[in-house]
Amino acid sequence: MTAQQAVTATLGRIPDGPATTVTGALFVDMANIRARYECLRCGRREGPVSGTDVVVAFVRSIRTDHHTRCLPQEPPS
Ligand SMILES: [Zn+2]
Repeated sequence: MTAQQAVTATLGRIPDGPATTVTGALFVDMANIRARYECLRCGRREGPVSGTDVVVAFVRSIRTDHHTRCLPQEPPS
Protein backbone atom coordinates (compact mmCIF):
# COMPACT_ATOMS: atom_id res chain seq x y z
CA MET A 1 0.00 0.00 0.00
CA THR A 2 1.38 3.39 -0.90
CA ALA A 3 1.40 6.26 1.53
CA GLN A 4 -1.33 7.97 -0.48
CA GLN A 5 -3.50 4.85 -0.33
CA ALA A 6 -2.95 4.57 3.41
CA VAL A 7 -3.97 8.16 4.05
CA THR A 8 -6.92 7.94 1.67
CA ALA A 9 -8.11 4.76 3.35
CA THR A 10 -7.92 6.47 6.73
CA LEU A 11 -9.80 9.52 5.51
CA GLY A 12 -12.43 7.26 3.98
CA ARG A 13 -13.04 5.57 7.32
CA ILE A 14 -13.87 8.74 9.18
CA PRO A 15 -17.62 8.51 9.62
CA ASP A 16 -19.87 11.33 8.53
CA GLY A 17 -22.30 12.09 11.25
CA PRO A 18 -25.40 14.25 11.09
CA ALA A 19 -24.97 17.88 10.10
CA THR A 20 -22.08 19.26 12.07
CA THR A 21 -20.45 22.60 12.67
CA VAL A 22 -17.09 23.04 11.02
CA THR A 23 -14.59 23.59 13.80
CA GLY A 24 -11.31 22.98 12.04
CA ALA A 25 -9.52 22.17 8.83
CA LEU A 26 -7.35 19.16 8.20
CA PHE A 27 -4.81 19.66 5.44
CA VAL A 28 -3.19 16.62 3.87
CA ASP A 29 -0.37 17.06 1.36
CA MET A 30 -0.32 13.76 -0.51
CA ALA A 31 2.65 14.72 -2.67
CA ASN A 32 4.97 15.27 0.29
CA ILE A 33 3.12 13.06 2.83
CA ARG A 34 2.47 15.83 5.31
CA ALA A 35 -0.55 16.90 7.32
CA ARG A 36 -1.58 19.71 9.62
CA TYR A 37 -4.70 20.76 11.43
CA GLU A 38 -5.98 24.28 11.97
CA CYS A 39 -8.64 24.83 14.60
CA LEU A 40 -11.26 27.48 13.92
CA ARG A 41 -12.36 27.61 17.54
CA CYS A 42 -9.05 28.45 19.22
CA GLY A 43 -6.98 29.43 16.20
CA ARG A 44 -4.15 27.05 16.99
CA ARG A 45 -2.35 24.79 14.55
CA GLU A 46 -1.25 21.22 15.12
CA GLY A 47 1.57 19.87 13.00
CA PRO A 48 2.71 19.74 10.35
CA VAL A 49 3.71 16.13 10.64
CA SER A 50 5.36 14.04 7.96
CA GLY A 51 5.96 10.42 7.16
CA THR A 52 3.39 7.83 6.23
CA ASP A 53 2.81 6.25 9.62
CA VAL A 54 2.80 9.57 11.45
CA VAL A 55 0.42 11.18 8.94
CA VAL A 56 -1.99 8.23 9.05
CA ALA A 57 -2.06 8.34 12.86
CA PHE A 58 -2.41 12.14 12.85
CA VAL A 59 -5.32 12.09 10.39
CA ARG A 60 -7.01 9.37 12.42
CA SER A 61 -6.80 11.09 15.79
CA ILE A 62 -6.11 14.82 15.52
CA ARG A 63 -9.70 16.03 15.75
CA THR A 64 -10.35 13.98 18.88
CA ASP A 65 -6.94 14.75 20.35
CA HIS A 66 -7.18 18.47 19.68
CA HIS A 67 -10.67 18.64 21.16
CA THR A 68 -9.24 17.52 24.51
CA ARG A 69 -6.89 20.52 24.63
CA CYS A 70 -8.86 23.10 22.63
CA LEU A 71 -9.37 26.31 24.54
CA PRO A 72 -11.54 28.62 22.44
CA GLN A 73 -10.67 32.27 22.70
CA GLU A 74 -13.17 34.58 24.28
CA PRO A 75 -14.89 36.78 21.72
CA PRO A 76 -13.65 40.39 21.85
CA SER A 77 -15.82 42.57 24.07
ZN1 LIG B 1 -8.87 24.38 19.09
